[in-house]
Amino acid sequence: MIEKERFVPIRIQKNHALLKRIPKNHPKRPDIESDQSRRLAGYKGELAIDFYLNKLPEKEYLILHDLRLSNGKYFFQIDTLLLSTAFALVLEVKNYNGTLFFDPDFNQLIQTNNKGETKGYPNPIEQASQQSSELKKWFHKRNITIPVEYLIIISKPSTILKTAPGYSKMLLKVQHAQFLLRSIEKIKASYKNEVMTAKNLKKISRTIIKEHTPETFDILKYYGILPGDIQTGVICKACSSLPMKRHFGTWYCANCHSKDKNAHVQALKDLFLLNKNSSLTNQEICRFLHLPSGDIAKKLLTSMQLPYSGSKKGRVYFPPPGYQQMKELE
Ligand SMILES: [Zn+2]
Repeated sequence: MIEKERFVPIRIQKNHALLKRIPKNHPKRPDIESDQSRRLAGYKGELAIDFYLNKLPEKEYLILHDLRLSNGKYFFQIDTLLLSTAFALVLEVKNYNGTLFFDPDFNQLIQTNNKGETKGYPNPIEQASQQSSELKKWFHKRNITIPVEYLIIISKPSTILKTAPGYSKMLLKVQHAQFLLRSIEKIKASYKNEVMTAKNLKKISRTIIKEHTPETFDILKYYGILPGDIQTGVICKACSSLPMKRHFGTWYCANCHSKDKNAHVQALKDLFLLNKNSSLTNQEICRFLHLPSGDIAKKLLTSMQLPYSGSKKGRVYFPPPGYQQMKELE
């Protein structure tokens, strides 16, 4: 059963909002675009394994996607976590194509892609093993006793896996997605004893979800982009031009003459994604949406039932709950 769903990763959402709103010839655009295509490929790989995970017996496994937990100072991230009453399984998904050589000497992964280009990556086996030991610590701190296993899943069936002679054991933890269920069966066979009740497991799952901390990240600062480089205004869904104009209670596009009553909702999401603070003032929102007055802004924000704190001039608004839980980029 899926306990925590997979959504478009926040970094992809932030990149997307940024790419929509910086000029076409912005010097940072190529960097952002290449980061975005790498992340989108990774996300596509994660979605590809859902096909197999959906075939798991619902009652036996709790599935939690995209977790970010902390053992104190640092956070660790898990692509997918499977929980059963006998064991926990960390899945690290990689969407690499071509040939992957797991180099035991230098503890790295060397990819030769379909064009014959080579590229080095940190060893994903090492990564997944670290995540599982962090998870073990996390469980230990909460007096939860459950064995933790891990697997690296290669989402593309055509990817070739290689390692140095004599090191084939190294690849025991690396599997193509189509063998995922078989690997889970094998792990299950080696943990015959249940270590907790289904009720307890559900409780642990709820604790994990409660302690999951979504990533906050100042994307403008990361790329060194000035707030002034961001094109403000409501974007027209029909023709992508901006800014739309607020006119008789709706948004009007001067370019394609479309009207859209709710076009500000997406603009506001963009603003929250690009903003370094989690809250915004009426004035900031007014400026970004190109609204003629704070009263109109207040009316729109009230109708959206945005959470807020403070009163009158000191009021700040927070993003609508779950605004980052999108299945597709908007
Ligand atoms: Zn338009």
